[in-house]
Amino acid sequence: MTVAAETSFDHIAAVDPEIFPIMNAEVRRQQDTIELIASENHVSKAVLEALGSVFTNKYAEGYPGRRYYGGCENMDGVEDLARNRAKQIFGCDHANVQPHSGSQANTAVFLAALQPGDTILSLDLAHGGHLSHGLRVNISGLLYNIVSYGVDRKTEQFDFNEIRRLAREHKPKLIITGASAYPRTIDFDTFSEIAEEVGAAHMADIAHIAGLVATGLHPSPIASADYVTSTTHKTLRGPRGGLIMCKEAYAKKIDSRIFPGSQGGPLMHCIAAKAIAFHEALQPEFATYQEQIIDNARALAEALVSKGNRIVSGGTDNHLMLLDLRPAYPNVTGQQAEDWLGAAGMIVNKNMIPFDERKPTQTSGLRLGTPAATTRGLKEDEMRQIGVWIDRVLQSQGPESGSDGAATIEAVRAEVRSMCDQFPL
Ligand SMILES: *Cc1c(COP(=O)(O)O)cnc(C)c1O
Repeated sequence: MTVAAETSFDHIAAVDPEIFPIMNAEVRRQQDTIELIASENHVSKAVLEALGSVFTNKYAEGYPGRRYYGGCENMDGVEDLARNRAKQIFGCDHANVQPHSGSQANTAVFLAALQPGDTILSLDLAHGGHLSHGLRVNISGLLYNIVSYGVDRKTEQFDFNEIRRLAREHKPKLIITGASAYPRTIDFDTFSEIAEEVGAAHMADIAHIAGLVATGLHPSPIASADYVTSTTHKTLRGPRGGLIMCKEAYAKKIDSRIFPGSQGGPLMHCIAAKAIAFHEALQPEFATYQEQIIDNARALAEALVSKGNRIVSGGTDNHLMLLDLRPAYPNVTGQQAEDWLGAAGMIVNKNMIPFDERKPTQTSGLRLGTPAATTRGLKEDEMRQIGVWIDRVLQSQGPESGSDGAATIEAVRAEVRSMCDQFPL
């Protein structure tokens, strides 16, 4: 796989000198910083090429063989490839590759499985859930009655006795599993058992862990869940977009809830890029890449722990971890840490930790992920170095640190840049 960032934008420079410098600056930013945002990645040159192709010109409302526009024969070929490759990767009966995003995929499942006012049991946002699973101001929270489960206060992992109790008490129509910030293996089968016991459908959202599921490094929900949704742009390393997988019995309904239920014309350039990313995911190197993501996450977590840090739930099984800032840096908020590390060239996001006492705009945690840095070629040694840099920056700030915070950020920034030069995109 070649990662593309030698993108020159020569033609854009000639025709639109206003946008050109901004686009150029973004290429530089990605080259010169280490991406530790758990939901991001660097796509291949082939995926980028498809995204910039004439497939963006075509309307293809409908599905292969049943389109509402003429001239769709090449659209059908591409969409069939994408669907078949998704089925091959995940072993599902049916795949819909048209969702514009992960949130759109989830919305289509809601429209297929629920009536407005029905109850959904889903993971609390403050405990790692996603906004499309029931945030009050999202379509999920506006249309449905949301009941949340969280993690156990002690273990910071799922407590199935408590989840079963909530399911029995509230009798949801749909149980949603999957998360944006949960560092441990998710036992999808037990969630399916609970769903079955209370007569709920089970939607597993594997947006974050799709690459791990694709390569058998995380248990797959395909056999036990009714619906499986995903993004294609996180660990799966494809273009920005969504994916729905389900049993044959739900196929027609799911397809109709995407089009015409909630979308018009599919983004055919994205679907071409999804097909290519799926082909990449079927190669043996992709499994090696996913293993390295996990090894890198463990190495980073261990490096941080060796500096006196606390990792939520005591570690990680997947591509991400949540750093609890309070023990090692009691006065530092997630927002400050995000800003300072960003200035030093390490891009992270602040995140609530379970039972966080700070506001969502401040937070006591950071979410750190390794998919993008691993694509770049960074391995355990570099991860340990990044752990040292993170600690150095966070120790150096504020008057009580007794050091020159700005100088430390500058010094670390230079070292980060030199690592970036060694691992070009
Ligand atoms: C990222 C994510 C999504 C969807 O993201 P979009 O930004 O809408 O593509 C859905 N569910 C989970 C759990 C996610 O982490």
